[in-house]
Amino acid sequence: MFNFNPLLNEFPEYKPSYSKDLKNMINLSKNENPFDIPDEIKNIFFKKIQEINLNRYPELTSDTIRQKIADFFNYYFRNYEITLDKNNIIVGNGSDELISYTIKIFNGDHVIVCPPTFEMYEFYSTLNNVGIKKVPLNNNFEISEVEKKVDENTRLVFICSPNNPTGNLQPEEEILKVLKTGVPVVMDEAYADFSKTSMIKYLEEYPNLIILKTFSKAFGLAGIRAGTLIANQSIVNQIMKIKSPYSFNVLSEKMVETIIENYDYVRKNIDYIIHERELLSQDLKAYTMKSDSNFLLLDLSKIKDITADSAYEFFLQNNIIVRKYEGVLENKIRVTIGTKEENQIFLECFNELLNYHNLRFTKEL
Ligand SMILES: *Cc1c(COP(=O)(O)O)cnc(C)c1O
Repeated sequence: MFNFNPLLNEFPEYKPSYSKDLKNMINLSKNENPFDIPDEIKNIFFKKIQEINLNRYPELTSDTIRQKIADFFNYYFRNYEITLDKNNIIVGNGSDELISYTIKIFNGDHVIVCPPTFEMYEFYSTLNNVGIKKVPLNNNFEISEVEKKVDENTRLVFICSPNNPTGNLQPEEEILKVLKTGVPVVMDEAYADFSKTSMIKYLEEYPNLIILKTFSKAFGLAGIRAGTLIANQSIVNQIMKIKSPYSFNVLSEKMVETIIENYDYVRKNIDYIIHERELLSQDLKAYTMKSDSNFLLLDLSKIKDITADSAYEFFLQNNIIVRKYEGVLENKIRVTIGTKEENQIFLECFNELLNYHNLRFTKEL
């Protein structure tokens, strides 16, 4: 009846893989922060909202919040002596929106992605009718020789570090090799707050470097939908031309403002999660590798008779949602670091899964 865009055939329907009521579940499947923003900080946000006019559009180019974010990064990364201002910053309705802009502004028939990695790079490239060249990660899940795959038709390269879903940081020297080719490199640093490093220190040296950060994970604001892109002014200017006007709403703007003014809270939260990650990785060390993020990728292939599917179902029956994969990661599940209590319940459940298969608890292996 309708003449739909044939590109849509590439995309499956959105649907959750479980039908239970999320309220009673421990959701360790989305790498969200386990803690909601505390009331005292929410109250600061409410006060800010009371003082603005919701009948008015946001600022056309979000200058106020862009400058505040620039100032925040200058302070946060003061060891690197960076000097950003609003002309280096874009804010978006989640960093997802920003991924799609980076694809739109450059020329070239393909992007390079390094799987297994975040699916949205492929999603938005396909949606924009741009080809995808895959340069898989090596056995340590690290990028290698990506620079050799760059050619004059490469639109940009996506590198996720720490990488989702493997959790590891990408080697800086490998990233620098790609940057040296001059091709635009999008560094997705959604989880960098959990690793305490950033490529932001190279922004001045490499004008082809684009950094994506999000307020969804370490900052605990997935529901607010706020992401930021940091880059050379010429790149920011191009994106400003094509960006949906007013996509960054005043509520997101005020919440981001509130959270960066209360960064001490975020810092404590990050330290808690890193601490819990180290405890959980220690307990599960037979099944995982070092993570620099807020999740662990567990390899179940060493456990006889357990597949990612059966483990997923087992956890689901116990009201825990984890993330499972297909393809190269088909024997693996990804687990977000939750609260101390949630991690304990997860561990007990994992233990049961092993017992069920006549294996002793991981700690004793
Ligand atoms: C969660 C995540 C994001 C953040 O997406 P938002 O749209 O900002 O919520 C970006 N990149 C990666 C790799 C992620 O895992």
